[in-house]
Amino acid sequence: MNQLSNRLNSLSPSATLAMSQKSAELKAQGVDVINLSVGEPDFNTPDHIKEAAKRAIDDNYSRYSPVPGYPDLRNAIVKKLKNENGLDFTAAQISCGNGAKQCVCNAVLVLVNPGDEVIVPAPYWVSYTEMVKLAEGTPVIVHAGIEQDFKITPAQLEAAITPKSKALILCSPSNPTGSVYSKEELAGLAAVLAKHPQVFVIADEIYEHINYVGKHESIAQFAEIRDRVVIINGVSKAYAMTGWRIGFVAGAEWIVKAVNKLQGQYTSGPCSVSQKAAEAAYNGPQEPVEEMRQAFERRRDLIVKLTKEVPGLEVNVPDGAFYLFPKCSSFFGKSFGSRRINNADDLAMYLLEEGHVACVSGAAFGDPNCFRMSYATSDENIVEAIRRIKEALEKLK
Ligand code: PMP
Ligand code: GLU
Repeated sequence: MNQLSNRLNSLSPSATLAMSQKSAELKAQGVDVINLSVGEPDFNTPDHIKEAAKRAIDDNYSRYSPVPGYPDLRNAIVKKLKNENGLDFTAAQISCGNGAKQCVCNAVLVLVNPGDEVIVPAPYWVSYTEMVKLAEGTPVIVHAGIEQDFKITPAQLEAAITPKSKALILCSPSNPTGSVYSKEELAGLAAVLAKHPQVFVIADEIYEHINYVGKHESIAQFAEIRDRVVIINGVSKAYAMTGWRIGFVAGAEWIVKAVNKLQGQYTSGPCSVSQKAAEAAYNGPQEPVEEMRQAFERRRDLIVKLTKEVPGLEVNVPDGAFYLFPKCSSFFGKSFGSRRINNADDLAMYLLEEGHVACVSGAAFGDPNCFRMSYATSDENIVEAIRRIKEALEKLK
């Protein structure tokens, strides 16, 4: 008998992590799989950050930290938000958590009541809808296809807002599409939100520094909605620190206090040593961030060029993050031997088993016509992966 809570039964497992696990299992069996499934920088954490962590261990940063994180780290984040984003926050408006993932979930859990609607533009990062469901809210999906560069318009946002709307979760640069909202596009969304004072914005800016069109634009810059924007960011992507697990929430003090109350009951402050490493990341030299960004941009150009040469795939040119999200629906209904491709899940499984390339089906991201490839990997892997994908897709008739 299934004795799990309804809450758990209604939750989907993380498709990104599941695909990565499947690819690791095949690799362990000796299959030469190229893993483009999970999205994390393939670089090592910069040395000065690692040194700061080693010092923190020697200096006995071994006890519980304050729940929202050490004041020194929060002050470093305050400085970052001012210098990089032109936004004024106090340390009391910052709460550090166990990665941006926990921080998004904290923001959702402190704002959303059962039955509240949360607007989630699709394609979306897999965890947003599940976090909303954990809070017993209702995800309201607003679709933006490849023909609109996967970005919602102000009119679509306006149409989705009801008296039950509590929040919008906006991710720019986006996982899984790499799309980046311009300042003008954000201003359009902000103008709609200004008319609906009950709607908060959870702005996931974790890919801020992986941007190929210039300066990052935050939706928090618009004064008329500023008090209702909760920024989520962290060190995972910018500083190649996914395993260190440090993210933060920046927002109105009453929201951050609630996040601290919640976090104080179920995880406490994040890892003490990682906090000292994150502080060094924010306060230290920023050159490594730019070097990694340039490498991602070069790889973006490479994977876009190669994927455009694959007949049957439709490709957008992502302006940020490290994902490509090609449309693959032209293959639906085609077969190779006994294997028929009915949807993007079938295609991702076919590419894994026939092409030995791990990607993630777009269905998990709310767009079942596409699939996601992470290009946070070497040029050689990118070239070989697209060669294999092309070969596997050519067999489908
Ligand atoms: N938001 C988005 C859009 C992401 O892609 C990720 C990475 N999984 C996260 C949040 C979580 O980041 P972190 O590793 O800091 O928890
Ligand atoms: N951001 C990564 C991804 O989307 C990490 C995996 C996850 O946390 O879901 O693949």
